[in-house]
Amino acid sequence: MSFSLPDLPYPHDALAPYMSRETLEYHHDKHHQAYVTNLNNLIKGTEWEGKSLEEVVKGSFGKNAGVFNNAGQDLNHNHFWKWMKPGGGGDKIPGNLEKKIAADLGSIAKMKEDFVQAGVTQFGSGWCWLAVKDGKITVMKTANGENPLVHGGTPILGCDVWEHSYYIDYRNRRPDYLKAFVDHLVNWDYVAELYGAAAK
Ligand code: ZN
Repeated sequence: MSFSLPDLPYPHDALAPYMSRETLEYHHDKHHQAYVTNLNNLIKGTEWEGKSLEEVVKGSFGKNAGVFNNAGQDLNHNHFWKWMKPGGGGDKIPGNLEKKIAADLGSIAKMKEDFVQAGVTQFGSGWCWLAVKDGKITVMKTANGENPLVHGGTPILGCDVWEHSYYIDYRNRRPDYLKAFVDHLVNWDYVAELYGAAAK
């Protein structure tokens, strides 16, 4: 059994103008596909073959950079497509999650500000996150293909700040991309679903 590229949960032009068809054609169809292809080639005939993607990510961290980078990016992107939806973003956050964010991070506005700031200040390629760690929702940032899972957290929202995610639409304006992500793209229902599972 090998890993495969999931379909986008919406048409390629559904997130425009905040994320264009061209970006999704490159980012999903080419970049994500390449991580999947590389991962399948790298694990063929190894101890990782037949393991779940999360097991490969956790088990290869610090041990096999090639496997880890591609597995991490495959996992991150599988969620990333579902962390967005047409007409997403804004302040309509399901009740339990909204209360927990306000309790742990101050307010919804402060959470968004800290999340964007984490993405802006991630030097080079990487991701910014909301994760559940030690029972609390926290803002994190990681480099390259890393994920809060390998730092003791469970991710519930992540935004890709690799240039391949925003350069076509925003050029060097990473802050504008991150602001559009939180204001117009986040699928808070999916974040709430992951929070519900992580809080159990
Ligand atoms: Zn990406």
